[in-house]
Amino acid sequence: MVTAASPHNPVWINGEIVAETEARVSVLDHGFLYGDSAYEAVRTFGGRPFLLDAHLRRLGRSAAGIGITLPNSVGVAVDDVLAASSGERLLRIIVTRGVGPLGYDIIADQPPTLIVLSRPMPTYPTAYYLDGLALAFVSVQRNHRNALDPSLKTSNLLNLRLAHMEARRAGADDAVILNARGEVTEASGSNIFAIRKATLFTPPHDAGILAGCTREFVLREIAPAIGMSVREEPMPPEALSDADEIFITSTTRSIHPVTRLDHKPVGEGRPGPLTRRLMRQFEARVGVPVFPEGSC
Ligand code: PMP
Repeated sequence: MVTAASPHNPVWINGEIVAETEARVSVLDHGFLYGDSAYEAVRTFGGRPFLLDAHLRRLGRSAAGIGITLPNSVGVAVDDVLAASSGERLLRIIVTRGVGPLGYDIIADQPPTLIVLSRPMPTYPTAYYLDGLALAFVSVQRNHRNALDPSLKTSNLLNLRLAHMEARRAGADDAVILNARGEVTEASGSNIFAIRKATLFTPPHDAGILAGCTREFVLREIAPAIGMSVREEPMPPEALSDADEIFITSTTRSIHPVTRLDHKPVGEGRPGPLTRRLMRQFEARVGVPVFPEGSC
């Protein structure tokens, strides 16, 4: 994974492209002070942004949901930053409330800050695909929809970070986060799916989840293409503990098999045959290699 800031990574910030090492945001930006911003992560396949329209629509919904007007320049910013990049990229598009005084009063015409980062696409260890991931149920609950709606992709991410920290402390790779009704919602940055008796299950939007672009792609295009029936329905924790197979999806992960849950094996404890079939279909649909050799 590339982590340190690099002069080779371009950043689009308020109309200009600068090197990542030179990009600066004001300490009075409300994104920094209050997590008062919406964002998207978009990846490229073969250098072209994947599911870009869906990501931009969701960014518009997230910004509108917290009362920020999305600048019209977002499409141009994405094009410009990609033109200044090479290789497979992970873009992060961030729109904040902008710079203002301390306090919650919003000054009139406070212009939002728009930033697009372009970083090399991170790679995950091959073992994540060959052996699968470990998840653990955590005590941190997903934000209630009436508190901070999980369908809005905001940079106010402490709820998810705390859940992730708890899972790591328990020796797992990621968390299974429940809602206030005790139903499964999602992992800290991915949607969760279970397969039981060849049917694919995933929590519905009103469980309080982010409507993942990869989730929608798997539900509407990948599973139907292999004739798999899908059910979006409330999932008690047992829907995972009794599953034959589990996997998670996100922009950066695409599909990751999950083979351990609370230190117990899922199914046979290996990435399952239907998960691997979905991975193959995903790769065929995208048209470039997505998963390491031999993983699906
Ligand atoms: N849930 C949460 C909480 C997330 O942060 C993400 C991705 N960042 C997802 C699900 C997956 O969404 P997508 O497939 O659009 O990346």
